[in-house]
Amino acid sequence: MAHLKPGVVTGKDYLTLVAAAKAGGYALPAVNVSSSSTINAVLEAAAKNQADVIIQLSNGGAQFYAGQGMKDGFQAKVLGAVAAALHVHLLAEHYGVCVVLHTDHANKALIPWVDALLDHGEAYFKQHGKPLFSSHMLDLSEESMEFNLNECARVLSRMAPLDMSLEIELGVTGGEEDGIGSELEESADNSHLYTQPEDVLQAYERLSPIGHFSVAASFGNVHGVYKPGNVQLRPEILKNSQALIEQKRATSAKPLNLVFHGGSGSEKEKITEAVGYGVFKMNIDTDLQFAYSEAIGKFVTENPKAFLYQVDPETDKPYKKFYDPRKYLRLAEQNMVTRLNEAFEDLGSKGKSLALN
Ligand SMILES: [Zn+2]
Repeated sequence: MAHLKPGVVTGKDYLTLVAAAKAGGYALPAVNVSSSSTINAVLEAAAKNQADVIIQLSNGGAQFYAGQGMKDGFQAKVLGAVAAALHVHLLAEHYGVCVVLHTDHANKALIPWVDALLDHGEAYFKQHGKPLFSSHMLDLSEESMEFNLNECARVLSRMAPLDMSLEIELGVTGGEEDGIGSELEESADNSHLYTQPEDVLQAYERLSPIGHFSVAASFGNVHGVYKPGNVQLRPEILKNSQALIEQKRATSAKPLNLVFHGGSGSEKEKITEAVGYGVFKMNIDTDLQFAYSEAIGKFVTENPKAFLYQVDPETDKPYKKFYDPRKYLRLAEQNMVTRLNEAFEDLGSKGKSLALN
């Protein structure tokens, strides 16, 4: 089994990590973070599970990391992502696991965000010989196929010399994530939620000569957690996409590196099936947001007076130990770790860290 140094993995090491997951029949959870607290919870969970992990920032998560009070929102989205990445670069190796650093959905309006991050990435590469992020995502699935692939090709040409990978999206992930996409309409025509394998082949032919990329193919997956039954998960779309490329381009088995968006609330059997078809990354955000907030809600409900008075008006008891934010944020982190234990288990990546094996 391959062995990697713990810390942020990029370039060849990233490819080793992806190949090991596909060969080993497991996937890594990709967790959306927005603060040092959530990043540390992900690192803690990965270390506890002896598993490698993907840490990613949406544009909104990055902005929150920099501070929503920052005047220039665009600048905050760029600098917040850079600050979070530096935080992970510094700490990840000390948790003893491999971490992939990634940014989430960037639609057409957010292309300048990705370009600005690549400006920082190029400067970082010059100084350190490795990129700031392992990969970025461009989600141009709402544009024409031509625009999508042209723009992906342009950005990948910038990323390849930095040893970076690009995640693209073909077909639309349902639901809404950080202002991208729209809330799911019940009983709407959901055919756009399913990627056509022919489109995947076209992307493969266009992008594989340029550099490394992965595909978020839509197979009925949805952001957020909705009442079950609205959309049917059809992982066989992933299998058919792999088969088409294997056949047309005479590649080895499972040539595509696939990404599963909207993992929260998905049926376990469908997750296992998708991983079997070459999914190495499953995004999980909503369930972890809930886990984080659930613990705080429980603590506040159990100790309501500590959030109304510094000193109890009846008993004179001081509540400092309760309202100190570290108290309830730590409980939130611990509950996030507990939910992540489940994710590592579901994805089969528990105990599989390449930094330890
Ligand atoms: Zn997504």
